Amino acid sequence: MNYRGRGTIVSPMQAIRFEQPGKVNLVEVADPAPSPGWARIRTKAAAICMTDFELLRGRHAVDYPLTPGHEYCGVVDKVGAPEDEKWLGRRVVADNEITCLKCGFCRRGEWRRCPEYRQIGFGPPGGYAEYVLVPVQNLHVLPGTISFEQGSLLEPLGVGTAVASIAGTRLGSTAIILGMGPIGLNCLAVLKASGARRILCLDQRPKRLVLAKSWGAAEVAENPESLKRLANSLHPEGTDVVIEASGYHALVSLGIELTRFGGTMVLAGFCKHEALPFEPDVVQGPNRRLLGAGNNSGFIEPAANAAGDGILRTEGMITHWYKLEDYHQAFSEDQVAAQDYIKGVFVF
Ligand SMILES: [Zn+2]
Ligand SMILES: [Zn+2]
Repeated sequence: MNYRGRGTIVSPMQAIRFEQPGKVNLVEVADPAPSPGWARIRTKAAAICMTDFELLRGRHAVDYPLTPGHEYCGVVDKVGAPEDEKWLGRRVVADNEITCLKCGFCRRGEWRRCPEYRQIGFGPPGGYAEYVLVPVQNLHVLPGTISFEQGSLLEPLGVGTAVASIAGTRLGSTAIILGMGPIGLNCLAVLKASGARRILCLDQRPKRLVLAKSWGAAEVAENPESLKRLANSLHPEGTDVVIEASGYHALVSLGIELTRFGGTMVLAGFCKHEALPFEPDVVQGPNRRLLGAGNNSGFIEPAANAAGDGILRTEGMITHWYKLEDYHQAFSEDQVAAQDYIKGVFVF
């Protein structure tokens, strides 16, 4: 079906739209055309992130209506300038940051401080649509060994790669991961590939712990008490690296307590603006390092390459598959709270 708009033939495309907090729709909009320096991706898979649920719950400062989706991959089908035609037909994944690349912040790699900073899926339309526009400089070739479904997992795998890098994981480091949702699992994949040992994982949902075990966790725990017992016996001098990936703020204190003298605790979960009663001395006294890791700029490509070579695990992560028209089910709170849910993906 085509319709006429401003004198040109425009084909509509389907896109999911968050109209306002709590209201999601499937709409038809004009299919987007790339300007010079931009490419259009025909979406093949787009994974659902808990951050999208937070957008739908109205917990992020964004303007509505909005087409979300920041974990997508597909095939380049249009470019805005002849010099970029080499991308046509390539299977790709993309970074989401849009920046000027010229200001002082950009030159220092502090992308999020760029005055022109925007993020695809949080303002500029994202991947829950048949097409998505991205700057050509953000494109990365999807390794041939990676399926589109796996490709949709590379953005969060970039988060796991960034967290492990910020944590300074070394061969032989002991580690604990608190929360085995997709980010916790991705951290496990990267820590394991980085040579961490005796990795202990905490989650309330048994299915996630079974997957963590199959990805190489030494032991798993369903509650903090069991985790403490395991840590005391397997990391008797304290744990080198603790990653908080649940966004459950009560686990931050537990993580600090389990981090060894001089060890590193990384905050990788989004704590939903909840405050934490906090005693600075527990960090200051034992020279612990408490670090934030909420940014995967520059880490999607190494994650894609490592996953493409089979170094990073992705299998078993996707538990639910949807078409765009299944949007109600895909964004239902009951679905995401289900025991067997780890990650959903839209396939096209
Ligand atoms: Zn995400
Ligand atoms: Zn800039």
